[in-house]
Formats: sequence, C-alpha cells, structure tokens
Amino acid sequence: MLTIGNPSSKEASLYFHIPFCTRKCEYCHFYVLPDQEPLKNQLLEGFKLEWERMLPFLQDKSIATIYFGGGTPSLFGPDRIRSILEMIHHSLPFDFSQTEITLEVNPENAQPALMQAYAQAGINRASLGIQTLDPDLLTLLGRLHSPSLAIKAVQDTYQAGISNISVDLMYDLPKQSLHHWEMTLEYIRSLPLSHLSLYNLTIEPHTIFFKKQAELTPLLPNEEASLAMYNSAIERLTNFGLEQYEISAFAKPGFYSRHNTGYWTARPFLGFGPSAFSYWQGKRFRNIAHLGKYYRALKSGHSPIDFEEQLDAEAHLKELFVIQIRLCQGILQSEFERRHGALSQETLQTLEYLLQEGFFSHSKGCWKLTKKGILFYDTVATELI
Ligand code: SF4
Repeated sequence: MLTIGNPSSKEASLYFHIPFCTRKCEYCHFYVLPDQEPLKNQLLEGFKLEWERMLPFLQDKSIATIYFGGGTPSLFGPDRIRSILEMIHHSLPFDFSQTEITLEVNPENAQPALMQAYAQAGINRASLGIQTLDPDLLTLLGRLHSPSLAIKAVQDTYQAGISNISVDLMYDLPKQSLHHWEMTLEYIRSLPLSHLSLYNLTIEPHTIFFKKQAELTPLLPNEEASLAMYNSAIERLTNFGLEQYEISAFAKPGFYSRHNTGYWTARPFLGFGPSAFSYWQGKRFRNIAHLGKYYRALKSGHSPIDFEEQLDAEAHLKELFVIQIRLCQGILQSEFERRHGALSQETLQTLEYLLQEGFFSHSKGCWKLTKKGILFYDTVATELI
C-alpha cells in the first residue's frame, strides 16, 4: 500500500484550464470552445494577466504540481505551454524534475514529434483520455480516436520521453458488456502505464446524451453489471501491478497522482482560465465560464471570479473528511484533527453508526472505507455531510 502524507502547509498546486476541443463529445458537460488560434492567443494572454493578479497569494508557497486540464490541452501547443511554465518559473523558481507537471492529451493529438516537444517544454506526466478500446463505444461517445490510435498514442508518448503516463477509462456506458470491458482492461495490460483513473458515465444536463436520455437509459448496464465491471477492474488492474489507492485511481508504487492527491488531502490550489475552480484558505471560488468575459475582466483590472463559497467550520471539516476518506489508506483521526480541528460529536456518532453498518473499519485510530463503504461511497458521503 502506498502511503500518502499530508501536504506541507507550504505546498500549493496550480491548475490551468484549456477549454479547446476539436469536437464536443456527446456526454461532455464541461465548458468547451472550438479549436481556434485567436482564442488560444487570447487565453494565453488571460493566463498571464491572471498570474500577475494571483502571484501575491503564492509568495510563501512552493509549487507541488502543475496541471493542464481541459478541454483538450494537447491542442494548445508546446510553445504556449512552455511560455506558461517559464512565466511560473520566472516568478516562483521550481525544480522541473521534482515537480509533477501533467498535460491532458487526447489520443488523436499524440504524434511523436508533438509529444517530444511537450516533453522538452517541461511536461513530465501525460494523462490520456482513452475512455474505452471498444470501437463502437468510441463512436457512440463521439470520440475522434480508434482503439489502435489510442494504443499507439500511449506508446508514442512513452517513446517521446514522457514515461509517467496515466489513462482514463469509462465504464457504465450504453451497450457496454462485462466482456467488452474486460477486453479493454486486457489490452491495457500491455501498455507502459504508471496510473489509471476510472470514471463511470453520468448523464448530465446540457449534453447531447441528456437529450437522448430516453433512448440511452434502457441501454445502460444495470446495477449488478456495473458492480461486476468495477470489481473486475479492481481485480485485473491489481494483477497488472496497478494498486488501487483511491476509490477510482490506481497506480504503480510511487506513481500516485500528486496533483489529485492534493485535492483529496486539502492542498491549496489555484485554478487559472475560464471556469477554473480554486481552493484557498478554506474558500472555494470559480472563474466565469466564458473566455471573452474572463479576458475582458482581467484586461480591465477586475476579478474574473463569479462564484465563491466559504463553508462554515463544521461543514468544511465534514467535507474534508468525506473527500480524504476516498483514499484507501484511510484517515488517521489524530493526524486529521491535528491538521484541521476536532471532529464533532455528531460526526463521531455518524462514524460509529457507519462502522456498525459495515461501511467503515476502525483500527488503531484509523478510519477506512470497507469494500461495502467503497461501493456505497455516495451513501457514506450523504450520511456524513
Ligand atoms: S475531449 Fe473531453 S473536454 Fe473535449 S468534448 Fe470530449 S469529453 Fe469534453
């Protein structure tokens, strides 16, 4: 089992949201823009203005991770990525080899020369949105890559010098059978991966899938099939040497996602770009989900934030517990309380109740989700919050 320490109070993470996509996938509910050069240049300028604005917050921090997410960040181009990394490095020097710097990549963009250029720009981790290796399901999702292209993308990324590679896989897809899911998992075995994240499909409002809900819902796997897919993934991935360290995340020893671990362990992070979230000093805030408005606000010296929330102390504590308990190593109560404050009697009573019901184990002061707790995490979270 990997052990994930609590982040030092000096550490912070940075997230850059790059919303461009060649085409909008049918299930996607993110803020996405067409892939156009003038918009990319506008976003780059916006990042620079926002960086100047947020820099005072970061003065006493060391940068633990930098993450380029989207959208499709691999469409942004190595020169723009390099200029962002240089901008950060210029004002807050960091060691490129010690800092996890991730780029989300769509397989159709992972040509060898391009990936080499990203590696030279400073990217040392790639997260590839493979989703499935079933050609029919890729078509149904509206993805632009084929299974063979996805496999080649992983190999090319590795050969380009980015050896720390994560892939995303989706289950609970319409018409997806356990057999097809296991075929995808078997293909994955041969790839040079250090990390894998699982996602189950949720049909969100404002998506094409939402409009097609009546047609798609009867095609979705039932609860039993969904559970079988999840359990099969845990078994197979563990056999491939990818250990489960969080409800949906698997890694080779030493290769857990430092960036995502920051989300689970309350490391502060600043999000840059339209629709990007931040978490800072117990407060959550989000930039406006509109590139033009985001840019104009910054250009005229105003904040691009259009939502902020400061949870009260008790609600914040419960939320921190619910997020951190996703990690398989569990929560050492004394350490958690030293960092964040004492759990209330109400929370402790709920934990006792969930312990009796078999959702938790509790040993030597450490709370952990049991298998039942992992499978019914949403129930656990609702009870605790
Ligand atoms: S590539 Fe990702 S961000 Fe872009 S449309 Fe598809 S799911 Fe959404």
